[in-house]
Amino acid sequence: PLDEEEYERPRLGSAGPVRVRVPAKINLHLHVGPVRPDGYHELVTVYHAVSLYDELSARRGDRLTLTMEGEGAGELTLDDDNLVLRAARALARYTRRQPLARLHLRKQIPVAAGLAGGSADAAAALVACDALWGTNLGRDELAVVARDIGSDVPFLVLGGTALGTGRGEQVSPVLASGHSWHWVVAVAGVGLSTPTVYRELDHLRGDGAAPASVGAPDTLLAALRQRDPAVLAAALGNDLQDAALSLRPELHRTLDAGHDAGALAGIVSGSGPTCVFLATDARHAEALAKELVDSGSCRSAQPVHGPVAGARVV
Ligand code: ATP
Repeated sequence: PLDEEEYERPRLGSAGPVRVRVPAKINLHLHVGPVRPDGYHELVTVYHAVSLYDELSARRGDRLTLTMEGEGAGELTLDDDNLVLRAARALARYTRRQPLARLHLRKQIPVAAGLAGGSADAAAALVACDALWGTNLGRDELAVVARDIGSDVPFLVLGGTALGTGRGEQVSPVLASGHSWHWVVAVAGVGLSTPTVYRELDHLRGDGAAPASVGAPDTLLAALRQRDPAVLAAALGNDLQDAALSLRPELHRTLDAGHDAGALAGIVSGSGPTCVFLATDARHAEALAKELVDSGSCRSAQPVHGPVAGARVV
């Protein structure tokens, strides 16, 4: 019920190309709890998939190869550190087959932006290879394989709006009444490393300089059901925001510019530095995006909507 379309079952093995589209995520609510013995923070988050997409195509091949274009091309390595290849290998191991595929990534989601682009590409690789190889795991089992690749990967297989717990990898859909929300995604010139932002939060908390946590997501979940953007605006919250602002004080300017342009709310997305702004409707989002670009306080700003489906064959 969350998705625009029903999940399309992968075809039974394909000569390719299989094309998969995968969205970026934002966090409408992000509560960061204590550090666990394994080094991860305990999270309670509300993920929301938005209409900014990467696309991965997969063809048969006699090796596993990856090429790419767009955001991060020439910057991201195309070896086994790339999450696309890690995901393809993980699926091959899980289904006990050779990881043979020629993969090509067209990337629009900026890198290290707090939009989980790398996790999105991993989710796309799982769905694409599942279809190419005819392994037909389906979304639930792909989400299980996804957990070991990265905390945000299961959500990007699922999409929509979902509650994430654990280190974010335990996801359950939030019934968000089929309503569409309109946002502007304002991207910064230089990315931020997620572990650095968590360390900064630990420092701020250690010094007693972090604000009170956003706590439980009840208000946010209730706001989603009300379909009123002004109510949702008041409920957005992110424990990582102050850490991101502490590392990048210039983000205050971006948030101020969105506020001055009439956004209902502005928030840092995940670990940042991307800022997202809530608009009343699609036209408002377009107008806001233009003003944000004109303000010169971000590299780019674009209107998006959510929730949208997770990684799927197109
Ligand atoms: P998150 O919000 O999930 O922590 P992010 O959106 O801040 O992540 P990503 O774009 O997912 O950041 O990338 C984080 C790092 O992952 C990159 O700096 C890069 O080193 C690595 N990486 C590996 N593969 C990819 C990929 N296909 N796309 C982007 N980054 C990748």
